[in-house]
Amino acid sequence: MEKEIQEIPKSLATKTELLNRLKKSYMDKSGSHQATTTRIEDIGQKLIDAEQEREKSEGQMDIIKTQREYEALDKEIKDATEKEQSLRKELQREQTSVEELKSVLEKEEMMISKQEEDVKEEQSKIKVKIKEKNTELKKLQGEEKKITPGLEEDILFKFERIIKSKSGIGIVSLTKGVCTGCYMILPPHFVNTVRRGEHVEFCPYCSRILFYQEDEEDEALETAVIDEEGDEEEEEEEEEEEAEDEEEEI
Ligand SMILES: [Zn+2]
Repeated sequence: MEKEIQEIPKSLATKTELLNRLKKSYMDKSGSHQATTTRIEDIGQKLIDAEQEREKSEGQMDIIKTQREYEALDKEIKDATEKEQSLRKELQREQTSVEELKSVLEKEEMMISKQEEDVKEEQSKIKVKIKEKNTELKKLQGEEKKITPGLEEDILFKFERIIKSKSGIGIVSLTKGVCTGCYMILPPHFVNTVRRGEHVEFCPYCSRILFYQEDEEDEALETAVIDEEGDEEEEEEEEEEEAEDEEEEI
């Protein structure tokens, strides 16, 4: 389920990638459009220069005196005219190319905005899907909790069963090492466990829940258990020995 949620955005990634490619292509073409525009301006300026040169040469025609001067000037005019014509052709070519680029750019702009819409739509779809999946996931997790109850619920269940089978007496005291539910003598180690009260303990004979009840024989019992357990409770043991000593003194 978690994996499914992670895989939802894959379709978005594909669409976003396409959008990025379109943008890149647009940027490249936009760059060459800019370059062509600059070239057109450049050619236009060269054309103006060529025209001025030709006009200047034509103006000089009136003041020439010799045949040689005339021939030289005539050649200049012809060259200038040729240059002008070739520049005009070049200009035309560049203008055509800039027009083409412009229409391609317009088309790509449209594609990009369409793709952007597509991506947006996909994003909102994904949001909804993820929300749905998360709701589903939470629901499943809730059910899972119900199916595998915690220890407390397990104890509750046992307790309910005990109440039903033992005429309502589910919890009994453990006094003097004896379960007061079934009057069986319980092992000292188990008695000590019940005494610590860290966990809910059940009588191994009658399954009732046990709680520890202090009694005068505690000390003796504890000492016996401590002898079994050893180091851990040494301090306690010492304290008890001291207590015993005091009692003796009294
Ligand atoms: Zn019992």
